[in-house]
Amino acid sequence: MKMDLAPAVTAALLFTAFHLQAAPAVSSGHGGAVATVSEQASQAALQILDQGGNAIDAAVAAAATLGVTDPFSCGVGGGGFMLIYSAADDKVISIDHRETAPAYFSPEVFKQDGVAMEWQDVVPTGISVGVPGTVLGWQEALTRYGTMNFEQLLAPAIKVAEDGFMLGENFNRISTINEGKFSRFSSASQLYLKDGKALPVGTHFRNPDLANTYREIAAGGARAFYEGDIAKDIVAAVNQPPVTSGTRVLTGSMALSDLKDYEVRVRQPIHSTYRGFDVYGMAPPSSGGIAIAQALNLLETFDLSTMSRAEVEHLYLEASRLAFADRNAYVADSEFTDVPVAGLLSKDYAKERAKLMGEKASAKREPGDPFLYQDDPSVPLRPSNATLGQESTHTTHLAVSDREGNVVAYTFTIEDWGGSGIVVPGRGFLLNNELTDFDFSAPHPNVAEAYKRPRSSMSPTIVLQDGKPAFTIGSPGGSTIITTVLQTLVNHIDLGMSLPDAVNAPRMSQRNGDTTLVETLLEFPGSDQASALEALGHRLAETDQIGAANGIIFNDDGTVTAVSESKRHGVGTALVQQQ
Ligand code: GLU
Repeated sequence: MKMDLAPAVTAALLFTAFHLQAAPAVSSGHGGAVATVSEQASQAALQILDQGGNAIDAAVAAAATLGVTDPFSCGVGGGGFMLIYSAADDKVISIDHRETAPAYFSPEVFKQDGVAMEWQDVVPTGISVGVPGTVLGWQEALTRYGTMNFEQLLAPAIKVAEDGFMLGENFNRISTINEGKFSRFSSASQLYLKDGKALPVGTHFRNPDLANTYREIAAGGARAFYEGDIAKDIVAAVNQPPVTSGTRVLTGSMALSDLKDYEVRVRQPIHSTYRGFDVYGMAPPSSGGIAIAQALNLLETFDLSTMSRAEVEHLYLEASRLAFADRNAYVADSEFTDVPVAGLLSKDYAKERAKLMGEKASAKREPGDPFLYQDDPSVPLRPSNATLGQESTHTTHLAVSDREGNVVAYTFTIEDWGGSGIVVPGRGFLLNNELTDFDFSAPHPNVAEAYKRPRSSMSPTIVLQDGKPAFTIGSPGGSTIITTVLQTLVNHIDLGMSLPDAVNAPRMSQRNGDTTLVETLLEFPGSDQASALEALGHRLAETDQIGAANGIIFNDDGTVTAVSESKRHGVGTALVQQQ
């Protein structure tokens, strides 16, 4: 590991160490770059870059380390979307390794006595667990674009899991929230609680079981996870969850064949243009790429350059509302339902829908008719529901680039903080509750079906200008991921903020609801900015914080700047190779 840190890197680490809150974690230089929410994960990526690995290698090393240090947001028990700009191929591709519903699934699984169950009752059970995709996703990315193997790339994570690390406030905060969920399962209680309580800040935390799981994957590749003893342990944990005495939970019916048959999808990303930029995002089953492109198309019909900040932010909220009306009604796994992607992305459709964007805040919108803007205007399923379903606001996002010009934007998750709460006994990782991202009430395009992938909001985004990477951004936060990425794009492109300022600005999230979420952490409520929006009719609702963005910008002078949060999710770590 490189220890002679240059001043910019040292500054970034100081932000992490002392929680200075005046500026984002930022680092600039000429080498490869990384931004994550975890110092150990960013260091793992830097180590791999310094060893000659490329951005794809470094992203896998960082992700594996995040599985150790940020285990409530992500890990091998979940899934995700990796967006890659390959410099050699000069193209952006995406690796969809979203969890799938096992073969036994149908909409009936989420019903009791014919009535849809409550979301929070499904989360901590065996029926919420989708077939994990992360390990095969990493393998696919490495096979196609990487230069190193699992043995090399999992080594930093194995070391952190084996040696341990000091638990910070964020780890303690999230496990405190999860005390009830983890208490239901003996394996989670043993790993993450002491006497039923979250481990205190400052605890030296080790996870040797996870180190051993990683060792098995390093030795046997993805097959060791999907066909070996790990697969058997996953199936047992889903079908007979390791509950604590007196706890009863719904059990799943995952089969070994569900794991063996799991497939990664290499997909074309969503591509759209915005004010001279080429914006690449994630296609279905994520709704992120489409919703962001659609909102940008709506905004592009206005000349924002002549407007005040309040006017621009008002239109950002209105565009987001309209994009969410369609997203909530139409977007799901496109292998199972006819998502009107071309219509939703149509600039003509945006021109029509933009007529609904007035000078004052609007109320909840109905979905439009994007089918009229595609070659086949027939509507296979009438939109039934423009309302946002219940979702968590967790997950993690990381950004990596290398000297060759490759860029990775990677969002991955186990859904809720702590996922289903089921740690696979003896394996050291939590299983996801991703299947709660399905819509519980049929008919809806996003209803649960066997082998289907639940609709996501994850939005890894890579922006090109003149054919070359300009910047990349992404965030956790459930459906607020879409608004965080969209607002950061607007802040940077339309309001002229630097990427660090764009990331650090107070966030607002309008998802076709009655109110717009705003952050108390950033002291937005009561500010002049908030008052200006309220004067335009926006009703604000408070939440503590929204998202935890990470990004990289490629500067005109040939340098790169890695950018992470200065306040949210316990402060991120942005590093750039200095050698
Ligand atoms: N399940 C969410 C999604 O795929 C991510 C989890 C979260 O951010 O809370 O969009």
